[in-house]
Amino acid sequence: MLFDNKEFLEDLAYLISLKTVQGFGDNAPFGEENKKALLYFLEKAKKFGFETVNYDNYFGEVIFGSGEEFGIIGHLDVVPEGEGWATDPYTLTVKEGKVFGRGVADDKAPILICLYALKELKERGVKFNKKIRLFVGCNEESGWKDVEYFKSKSKFPDYGFSPDGDFPVVFSEKGINRIYFSIPKLKNYTFNKSGTIVNAVCAYASITAKGKVDEKLVKKHGLKLNGNLIESFGKTAHGSKPELGVNAIKPLFDYLLDCGERVKEVVDYIFNDKLNLSKIGDDTGFTTLSANLIEEREEDILISVDFRIPATKVLEDFIPLIEKFGIKYNAVLSRKPLFVPKTERIVNDLLNAYNEVLGVNESPIPQSGGTFASVFKRGCAFGPEFPGKNNQIHEPNEFMEIDDINKTYDIYLKAIENIIK
Ligand SMILES: [Zn+2]
Repeated sequence: MLFDNKEFLEDLAYLISLKTVQGFGDNAPFGEENKKALLYFLEKAKKFGFETVNYDNYFGEVIFGSGEEFGIIGHLDVVPEGEGWATDPYTLTVKEGKVFGRGVADDKAPILICLYALKELKERGVKFNKKIRLFVGCNEESGWKDVEYFKSKSKFPDYGFSPDGDFPVVFSEKGINRIYFSIPKLKNYTFNKSGTIVNAVCAYASITAKGKVDEKLVKKHGLKLNGNLIESFGKTAHGSKPELGVNAIKPLFDYLLDCGERVKEVVDYIFNDKLNLSKIGDDTGFTTLSANLIEEREEDILISVDFRIPATKVLEDFIPLIEKFGIKYNAVLSRKPLFVPKTERIVNDLLNAYNEVLGVNESPIPQSGGTFASVFKRGCAFGPEFPGKNNQIHEPNEFMEIDDINKTYDIYLKAIENIIK
């Protein structure tokens, strides 16, 4: 049981104690704490007898074995802790069968578990018929500049996994795009800047009336009138799963249409999906269109949309449809889709490890978020979140169950063994 290993716990506690939120520093491109975490991780790997490379504190690599290359990639940086923690987010806390701390599940424990799995296989004298290259990033959460820097110095293997997603194994990730729609300003209202970030459902939006307001219409659309301010309240959700949220911008447009403003195309195509884009999909997922940000500018109103498409499609496939909206737009690719045929050996090596260790018979799954797995041509996100569980990733009280840490270790151990055979 990995959790009985004191050294592992000390390492994890130390990594959690470092507030590896993005920062800046001297010779520390993502801040001192990220640099400390990276140096510690690489030092540990060296102590275990592995070769290491430090890419100028941007990115690290641990190498073992020889033969065809296979990559594993995780990260040591975290998103800010936010409000609402029951424990200190930067103190590893063991409580009721769980360990709490910012970064415990995303992604400090998982990548450390991979390192310990490599160590055990090495100590057991298992023959490595592949060259394992384990990568640790420090800028996954805010821009992937670590990966960019690495690519300017070296090349990723074609195959690999990332312990930064879901079990049993992820065979596809949706393509992520942004569409920026530009519409003319309104006659009788101005839009207030609404929404926080393009990949989160807008939870609050508002407009300001220039003249008199029809209170009945405000009520009809479930809006709140506050002087000449008309407010709309929704519920946020991650951009990859907009169906879990309630978009606050939509009712405002419904209202504006009723008021005689010229927003019919916006209502029909962007919010009511007149062209049935959301029906376009397959076993890698369905298309989602989520207008999450709105901002009135000098010359127009800008609506920023998170647009995710099945992994088997490209943005260009959708351009003729978006043209039909009849709204001025600019569509930009944000993350290429990732697709690994389920018949590929990598999918089976990983899936078999999961099924064997847990004694289950699961199938590969698609994912709508993007992970580091996409640095590989054939990459799979693989754990650490188990089906139906929520580790509070990016939320307060992030945790992993001790039992899951032990299971994850056994699964990674078996998976790497399958791979290096
Ligand atoms: Zn992550």
